[in-house]
Amino acid sequence: MGSIKGRGDNLTTPRRWFGRGVEALLGTEKAMRIRTSQFLLAAVLMLACVGVLYFMRAAGIEGMGDVDTWAAFSCGGLVVIYALIRSGFSCRMADPSLTFVQMLYAIACNAAAFHIAGHGRGVTLPILSVILMFGMFGLSMRQVVYVALYGMILFCLSAAYALNQLSTDEPVDLFVAYIFMVFVVLSATTFLTWRLQQMSAYMRNQKNQLALALDKIQQIATCDELTGIANRRFMLEKIQDELQRAERNAQPLLLAILDIDHFKQINDKHGHPAGDLVLQAFVAVVQSAIRGNDTLARWGGEEFVILLTETDMSVGLVCLERIRAKVAEAEVLVGGLGLKLTVSIGVTQYRCGESFESTMARADSALYEAKTQGRNRLVWGGSSQSVYS
Ligand code: GH3
Ligand code: MG
Ligand code: MG
Repeated sequence: MGSIKGRGDNLTTPRRWFGRGVEALLGTEKAMRIRTSQFLLAAVLMLACVGVLYFMRAAGIEGMGDVDTWAAFSCGGLVVIYALIRSGFSCRMADPSLTFVQMLYAIACNAAAFHIAGHGRGVTLPILSVILMFGMFGLSMRQVVYVALYGMILFCLSAAYALNQLSTDEPVDLFVAYIFMVFVVLSATTFLTWRLQQMSAYMRNQKNQLALALDKIQQIATCDELTGIANRRFMLEKIQDELQRAERNAQPLLLAILDIDHFKQINDKHGHPAGDLVLQAFVAVVQSAIRGNDTLARWGGEEFVILLTETDMSVGLVCLERIRAKVAEAEVLVGGLGLKLTVSIGVTQYRCGESFESTMARADSALYEAKTQGRNRLVWGGSSQSVYS
């Protein structure tokens, strides 16, 4: 059976071929396409210049030289540069776009055109400005200065050569004016490039500072300043996300509240700064005991919340009991004294469909139970509360 061709297939074929042609010309990789597109723009400019010189010759402008050799030389150079870029050969070089090389070549062609254009040589000067504009974005300041000096030398040589061979009635003063204009164009472009590069350095700096400020704002918005762990705001968002995920995937999720026992006494006995050190030390101990997937946040004061995702009751109790025991074993050094502390923990499991507030209230009442039963213990807030210590 023959294949059935839809109308759409016929319509898209020329487009497909066009797409393939563009791909073959420009390449498929993004960086290569940028380089080849930039080159093609410069090539179109060069071809326009070739066209103008032929037009001038056809129009009988006086004093014109060998346009054919010039055109062959200019177009030949273009082909070589395109081959170097498109083959990937230029990727081995510091500037794979060959901007510097392209500019040197274009200016040489432009200076040669100045010589062979006879009485019409004035048309080459605007092209010089356009060539220099290409360099504004791709060259370093040092390269721009080299290009300007190189351009000046080539145009002076071209003018001197033309004057030497002058068989026409072009006045010498006109050449002085041309060279002065070349000097003006080169100096102005060099100055503008310097300004442009200054502005882009300033913008880059602003962008970096903005990124740093955003990082800082993000950190302030999500981290607790004293302990460096997640703050309540971050944890509330995380809990909402994880509750939805637990519901979607039917995975168990535990929520635990930890409250340091008699923390006020530490503040009262040793001072507030000592209390701060104890909070930091407590966080370090708890963090060393939780698993990578669990999230610890400071809920406020000396209260903390741990979210245990994809964790059932038995695993969660082992994990939290390990935390309770580690805190009880730890000794916090404050002003040469080794302080001991304990923590009470209330934990519960999220029940499908219930609100976050209900889960939290159950964990809170389990914590209350742990406190009333003597502290330094872990209480499960389920249908019937169980105590572990
Ligand atoms: P309980 O065992 O019942 O939890 O008693 P407690 O003393 O730990 O609890 P209470 O709520 O009576 O005291 C908590 C203290 O924590 C009071 C407050 O001054 C102190 N606190 C809260 N935030 C900070 C902080 O950032 N740094 C310090 N050093 N102390 C804090
Ligand atoms: Mg407390
Ligand atoms: Mg408390």
